[in-house]
Amino acid sequence: MENISRVLGRVQEIQERLNVASPGGSAFADMLDAAQPEASSSMSRERQASWGAMPLGTMFGPNGLIPIAAPTSQSIDSYLEANGLAARNGHLEAHELVEVSGGWYGSARLLPPAAQAWESMRAAAAADGIDLFAVDTYRSYETQAHAHGEYLAGRKDAYVAPPGESEHGFGLAVDVTNGSPVGPGDREWEWLSANAGRFGWHPISNESWHWEFRG
Ligand SMILES: [Zn+2]
Repeated sequence: MENISRVLGRVQEIQERLNVASPGGSAFADMLDAAQPEASSSMSRERQASWGAMPLGTMFGPNGLIPIAAPTSQSIDSYLEANGLAARNGHLEAHELVEVSGGWYGSARLLPPAAQAWESMRAAAAADGIDLFAVDTYRSYETQAHAHGEYLAGRKDAYVAPPGESEHGFGLAVDVTNGSPVGPGDREWEWLSANAGRFGWHPISNESWHWEFRG
């Protein structure tokens, strides 16, 4: 019960902020102006540090802050618990993952419920003439640790979570690409923004290309 009221409280808070900061409104324009000096330069540790001050319910796109929808389901956490995966971020066995279509470099693996939803979503997108590709899906602990190290060394443009803290480590996240990470103005991103929620995929992080399955 505690969890539910906490989530409902957060959803309400996000909705209130989204109401204030609707695209086209002056509050949203002010927010973009405030974010522009950082959003226009390449991403840096300083910029990542500034995320602490970001309004809830927003993320960075190539052109500044954009509002995101709030996830409302805890079902995937139950799935992780029930399958003994909750404490094994980045340590999933090959047989616990499903090879999916749409890997930009070929191989792409997701947790079974996310894999099913990804395939359904890809099929629906294809019916609308949109080809969804993922440049990154499941990441092992070692891969995440290496990428995080590269980020700390200033060799990554975008923030990389520490190992054990990314949804990529559960096979529950995709980084969508069309050759470049997708964002506002890209057909793929516009389609995802309008439709991904129907398939349980949400833009939960601060990055426009990063979508997570929440059931
Ligand atoms: Zn990602």
